[in-house]
Amino acid sequence: MTLEQTLPICIAGTWRLGGGERYASHYPATGEPVAWLNAASLDDVEAAVQGAHHAFVHSGWAQRKPHERAAVLYRIAGLIREQAEELAQLQRQDNGKPINETRALVASAAGTFQFFAAACETLEETITPSRGDFVSMSVYEPMGVIAAITPWNSPIASEAQKVAPALAGGNAVVIKPAEITPLLALQLARICEQAGLPKGLISVLPGKGSLLGDALTRHPLVKRVSFTGGTRTGKHIAHIAADKMMPVSLELGGKSPTIVLADADLDHAVAGVLYGIFSSSGEACIAGSRLFVARALYEPFMARLTAAAAQLRVGDPADESTQMGPLISAGHRESVERYVALGLAEGGRLRLGGERLRGGVFEQGYFYPPTILEGLGNHQQVCQEEIFGPVLVALPFDNEEDLLAQANDSLYALAAGIWSRDYKRAWALGRKLQAGTVWINTYKQFSISTPFGGWRDSGLGREKGRLGILQYMEQKSLYWGMNPQPLAWAGVEAGQ
Ligand code: NAD
Repeated sequence: MTLEQTLPICIAGTWRLGGGERYASHYPATGEPVAWLNAASLDDVEAAVQGAHHAFVHSGWAQRKPHERAAVLYRIAGLIREQAEELAQLQRQDNGKPINETRALVASAAGTFQFFAAACETLEETITPSRGDFVSMSVYEPMGVIAAITPWNSPIASEAQKVAPALAGGNAVVIKPAEITPLLALQLARICEQAGLPKGLISVLPGKGSLLGDALTRHPLVKRVSFTGGTRTGKHIAHIAADKMMPVSLELGGKSPTIVLADADLDHAVAGVLYGIFSSSGEACIAGSRLFVARALYEPFMARLTAAAAQLRVGDPADESTQMGPLISAGHRESVERYVALGLAEGGRLRLGGERLRGGVFEQGYFYPPTILEGLGNHQQVCQEEIFGPVLVALPFDNEEDLLAQANDSLYALAAGIWSRDYKRAWALGRKLQAGTVWINTYKQFSISTPFGGWRDSGLGREKGRLGILQYMEQKSLYWGMNPQPLAWAGVEAGQ
């Protein structure tokens, strides 16, 4: 691939130039183009969905035995591992995350395909307790064409979480990656083909979500949308889905509380709070962006946390020692800056950061330093809205009642963290926190085997987990009549 070339996109097994505008994916660390491609057009959406439907009906994928579909998914996992370094470097360029993070995302994508391959070949359909002269069963059927709409912050890992269970369930998939990070989804489609996935079962439509994602969601042949992204977009998709009576899963935003109780192990708490908010430069739905510290501990803890945050290495994502790379775009950095200015206008004080880094590499890319705001109330805008950057708001709390009232006072309810040496207290608190995931004495750890999703404005439905495959299948009940006599109601005698 040379920079001058325009990359083809994948439309139902055919690689060709998209029908939309030519644009580039840029490296956020330098602002330079990484690759040029043409966005998909509305005609491409139609061709991709029709092609996917055709492949679903005619390729025989849906009818293959689960272990046969699993074999293809295991091969996809293997190919991702073979190409891991290339994929990690491509992702670093496409979205600017530090190389160690992109390596972890690629490894997670491979693990996801392996996990859903295993889930596929071991999925059991059940014979339910019979309550009549019949055998009753609960079975699962593929749905058809699935739309997978993903954001820019964790390409390949986000796509794998949707594509793997959807293919395992016997479906066809059309991926709509974020406009600015299309490269990993395209490479994933190539890998699926190399692994022997029947032609047409996967498509990738780069370009604007408001045009392509919207058309895809509305398409009558699309039977389910699996969406990860912002809450506003998620609600828009939910409205369309309601009109179509179409199931959706929505993985949306967050403003997650991370709580340091007075008896916390401070080494663990400092390390965990830093990782929770500043890894991925805070561009994570589960970022622990609201910090609550027991008042008695507040000053000493904040002094330690601030000193450690000031030592974080921000810089070149290609450097193995970098902890924080740039933000995704100039526009996104401006949005983060507006939030920090708003926090100050709301009466907040900067404990750390809050100003662009200057000189060298910082002059080109969209870097922003670790930033800590304090002196605000939980009701204020910067404590309620998702900033999606390296900005932590710190608040003291007086007692558990005060803590719970504040921590649960959010439109979002995606995740939460607790730091305490008292496991019984942490357990009790964990049960009272309103969040899809609660971490105790750890943060931002993930396992594909454990369901993930949000409450309230953080989303609807769950991804991951062994039964995640069922999200992409329709349940069906089967009754097999076993009575030698005709049904009594009609009064028909056997043999007459
Ligand atoms: P976004 O909502 O702007 O875009 C997400 C995807 O939706 C993109 O592919 C986009 O092109 C598409 N899209 C945009 N408008 C659309 C429309 N009208 N119809 C259909 N599709 C449309 O989000 P983003 O800025 O790419 O990502 C950041 C957001 O994602 C943050 O809010 C973050 O919290 C959230 N996120 C959530 C999770 C989770 O699992 N809960 C994970 C990662 C990111």
